[in-house]
Amino acid sequence: MSEFDIKKIKIHEGKNDTDLIKNIIKETESDDPFYILDIEDIIEKHKLIVEKMPRVVPHYAVKCNPDPTVIQTLAAMNANFDCASKQEIQLVLKMGVSNDRIIYAHPGKAPSHIKFAKKVGVEKTTVDSKSEILKLKKLYPESKLLIRVALDGSADQCGVNFSEKFGCEVTTEAIELMEYMKNLKMTLLGFCFHLGSPCLDTSSYGKGIKVCNNLINIAKTMGHIEANVIDIGGGIQGQDTDYLNKLALSINDALKHVDPEIEIISEPGRYYVESAFTLSACIIGKKTIKKDDNIEKFYYVNDGTYGAFIEELLDIKHRIPNSLYCQSNKMFVSTIWGRTADPYDILVKSTPMQDFEEEDWMIWKNMGAYTSSLATTFNGFIPASVYPFIRKSSLNYVLNEMKNNIH
Ligand SMILES: *Cc1c(COP(=O)(O)O)cnc(C)c1O
Repeated sequence: MSEFDIKKIKIHEGKNDTDLIKNIIKETESDDPFYILDIEDIIEKHKLIVEKMPRVVPHYAVKCNPDPTVIQTLAAMNANFDCASKQEIQLVLKMGVSNDRIIYAHPGKAPSHIKFAKKVGVEKTTVDSKSEILKLKKLYPESKLLIRVALDGSADQCGVNFSEKFGCEVTTEAIELMEYMKNLKMTLLGFCFHLGSPCLDTSSYGKGIKVCNNLINIAKTMGHIEANVIDIGGGIQGQDTDYLNKLALSINDALKHVDPEIEIISEPGRYYVESAFTLSACIIGKKTIKKDDNIEKFYYVNDGTYGAFIEELLDIKHRIPNSLYCQSNKMFVSTIWGRTADPYDILVKSTPMQDFEEEDWMIWKNMGAYTSSLATTFNGFIPASVYPFIRKSSLNYVLNEMKNNIH
């Protein structure tokens, strides 16, 4: 495995994270936005999910945040990886992860990416149609396939829904694909689903396991003797212990009825990274606007919907920041605009929040998931950089955890 480059990591000696942020601002003398990345948080997330669901092998969904320190940390913790493209596979292999620890979990792959997977020996991949199976038969006949079935969590408890885009219908269509694979002599490794992102409906995971287990039994009777994997996808939340306990209950309960020989894997993305990243962006402009008899504060901030805040552009989230230098109780209806010249670049519209001074910085916690991985250079702006850190008090613990896990 590639050496973990400790020189690039900040050793955090202060009491709280704002001390570290202030130090970075002082050191760099820059007004560019940046994240701090808590490496220990990633390690704790990994240990916790393995402890709560010991039969489930997590594969980190790289698309959620491909930051090299995140990949290196998880590689050192012996986690596995879910990649969706040639480039993601390349990135993970470069960190010294072996090809058998990667699943190429995308049911609609470009031929050149399949050829690359074959070249580097990443065998496991997902399919949901005859055309994808045939493509793999031609380009990568040794590949091992998981059939993706279309299952959703309940609509009111799940965010982005994936089953309109991907997945086959559970019984008839899945059986057709199994037969098709049998005729083509392709290896069926098992079944997978991805409920939504995030998916708060924990019972759907248990139900999904049951569905896949039944499909494995059918596959076995058809002679697919290698069908031994159930992949429960991602959508797992990272910041709520109650939720994680409920999820573990649903999953572990369902697994009581699943043959111990069957391997269970998951593909968490946001679970691992959301809380580990905190974003800081400085205020570059402020106005007070009169609207009838009321006033509204406008802030112009040095990041935006084409940077870290794509979920604001998609109207999924509207996150309110804290202040770095002056917390205040005075509330004003305010709008936060992003740094580009585009009027769609708006983070929060006409919402009560504290008054911010013009030289202050805005701080957003829980900014690790689907933020930097979706940032663009629209208008010439550069996406926020990342400063990984370890608290001085945890340094030995963190380094030991990683060392002990390298085989
Ligand atoms: C995006 C994705 C994931 C990760 O989803 P999270 O909500 O970030 O956990 C996992 N599996 C598949 C197939 C995905 O498309």
